[in-house]
Amino acid sequence: MQKLKVGDLVEVTKGAERSNKDKATKRGKILSIDRDALRVRVEGLRTVKRHIRKGRDRANPEGGILERPGSIALADVRVVCKKCDQSTRVGVRVNGDKKVRFCKKCDANID
Ligand SMILES: [Zn+2]
Repeated sequence: MQKLKVGDLVEVTKGAERSNKDKATKRGKILSIDRDALRVRVEGLRTVKRHIRKGRDRANPEGGILERPGSIALADVRVVCKKCDQSTRVGVRVNGDKKVRFCKKCDANID
């Protein structure tokens, strides 16, 4: 089970987005999480172009090309730790009656 939240900064560590020509690190914020399909949408990543014909889409009556983030498998992204600036695995520890996520590399709290 991945311990991700909407708004987390994540890095794509494998999968299609990573094999882009530029090889740049692919990071972005999570826009939405589909826990049933185990996929996430990440800001600015894996954009898919949708061609919309005039009059087909109420939100875009003029039609055109719409760019929006496609989904990425949950297993292909990792949280980026703000402290050590690395993509990391997330641990959870109990702090009183609260669960706190932490970076398994540098032990800093993530929330
Ligand atoms: Zn860290």
